[in-house]
Amino acid sequence: MNTPARGSLLGIEHLQQDEALRLLKLARRMNPQKPRSLLRNRKIILLFYEPSTRTRSSFEIAAKSLGAITTLVQSSGSSIEKGESLLDTGYTLRAVGADAIVIRHPSAGAPHLMAKYLDIPVINAGDGMHEHPSQALLDAFTILKHKKSLKGLQVAIIGDIVHSRVARSACHLLTRFGAKITLCGPPEFVPEVATTLASGLRISRHLEEAVRGADVVMLLRVQKERLAGQKISLQDYIAHYQMNAARLKLAKRDAIVMHPGPIIRGLELTSEVADSPQSVIVDEVRSGVPVRMAILARALGRAK
Ligand code: ASP
Repeated sequence: MNTPARGSLLGIEHLQQDEALRLLKLARRMNPQKPRSLLRNRKIILLFYEPSTRTRSSFEIAAKSLGAITTLVQSSGSSIEKGESLLDTGYTLRAVGADAIVIRHPSAGAPHLMAKYLDIPVINAGDGMHEHPSQALLDAFTILKHKKSLKGLQVAIIGDIVHSRVARSACHLLTRFGAKITLCGPPEFVPEVATTLASGLRISRHLEEAVRGADVVMLLRVQKERLAGQKISLQDYIAHYQMNAARLKLAKRDAIVMHPGPIIRGLELTSEVADSPQSVIVDEVRSGVPVRMAILARALGRAK
């Protein structure tokens, strides 16, 4: 049992601020249109125990843009279905020559466990309701394309925060850089204890109050797969918390609308908002590639 291999990215909570900055700067120098051979012939395994579209495809394109070889292993269709443990899967992938593993898993801490036992970098691509560090970095990267600095920005994060690894990682990263975050949603989604996630978080139960004067409006999906039998009324949710054009007008005129995806039109936001000029949702997806190129280059010691 070891400390995680150098270059692992397990979460934002314990990532030093200067490390985060270095990654953001490196991402600015990465261009998927101009492939480089920084990671030529390095083998990166994408190990996905949960569905993914954006994270998986962008890690794969990022790796290939740097010349790496990728292999996708998913829980369905692999020996995981036959009952192989997480660590045995890790040892197997190491034995076939993996130089790094990008892992998404429904249990919080799964990447950390793998990183303790493997001697190669492990990158967390989302662990249960815990963290999604690459998403937080690409969100910061996207915000910085539109705003001069994160310091003092008013950010409203609206929706299913308690089940959201995206919200957790975003809170750690954005508050560290001086953003002021208001979490907004009903108590089932935003319990009072949510303020302990990071320093200086506020809670508002009223969408209008949370959005008024915001520079960044981040919407989250209702994570039905994590509700564990909990009944919530989607009708009530839509009535009180759906982002529509009228509500968005309360934010600053140059406010941007973010969402990690997948978006559910007609639930957490209307199509008008999703497709409005203020929406940077597609831009976030685009940012995912250079940011993940930077993460992989750092993981394999090529962060030059
Ligand atoms: N794609 C994000 C995640 O994997 C958000 C979501 O699924 O709603 O956490």
